[in-house]
Amino acid sequence: MLKENSREKRNFKALIETDGIGRVEDRLNVIDVFLNTEDHITLDDFMSLLNGKGYNYDQEFVKLCLNRWVELGFAQKEVFEGQPPRYEHRHLGKHHDHLICTKCGMIIEFQSDEMEQLQERIAAKAGFYILQHKMEIYGLCSRCAAARSDLMPLTSTKTGEEVYIRDVVGGGNAKSRLISMGFSPGDRLEIINNDGEGRLIVGRGDSRLALGRGMAENIIVSPDRQGMERGLKGHPRRRRRLWGLF
Ligand SMILES: [Zn+2]
Ligand SMILES: [Zn+2]
Ligand SMILES: [Zn+2]
Repeated sequence: MLKENSREKRNFKALIETDGIGRVEDRLNVIDVFLNTEDHITLDDFMSLLNGKGYNYDQEFVKLCLNRWVELGFAQKEVFEGQPPRYEHRHLGKHHDHLICTKCGMIIEFQSDEMEQLQERIAAKAGFYILQHKMEIYGLCSRCAAARSDLMPLTSTKTGEEVYIRDVVGGGNAKSRLISMGFSPGDRLEIINNDGEGRLIVGRGDSRLALGRGMAENIIVSPDRQGMERGLKGHPRRRRRLWGLF
């Protein structure tokens, strides 16, 4: 990796020198710090990392460096849903995809020849020539999934999730209103949009419903059981814990 880093740095230096953009040493310092992190790093995180190394460059300059680094093909800028842009190394001839936890933001890289070949076959069947692709799978990491309780209010669900209604509660006329809207235990709901504020959009059967957060608090749901078990197959200890809860 070290050899690769210094090769990339030399390659970058040659390219920016022909650019004639100046501050070459500063740019190389920025790149040096970037090459020494293996994370998917946001600009803010990267600024703190630079400060920690004693560099006090202004954010605009750093951003320009990173963006130039992306243009020249040394780094990749990723924009995952619900997160600020992140930068990561881009190694020529290597490709990977991402699993993204929508709770804690954790990013897990994966590489699957099987998946890549399947995509080639799907495209070939459609007579489609692939230039590039990105695969992003959103969900909960093993830790966030295991920390989740079986019963939760609808407001704690995540966009894209499938849940089942376990109970409808609420004082005043909240409960009867929800029941008159047709929400009842056992119903399957698809969370179309829950961005943590404002109304929730849920799918029930073939209709979409908008619910205020106050009302949604009164619908108690549990996550899609089979889905959680499938996702936790690699973690027998956590699976047992979940079984205990169901
Ligand atoms: Zn891929
Ligand atoms: Zn997580
Ligand atoms: Zn990555």
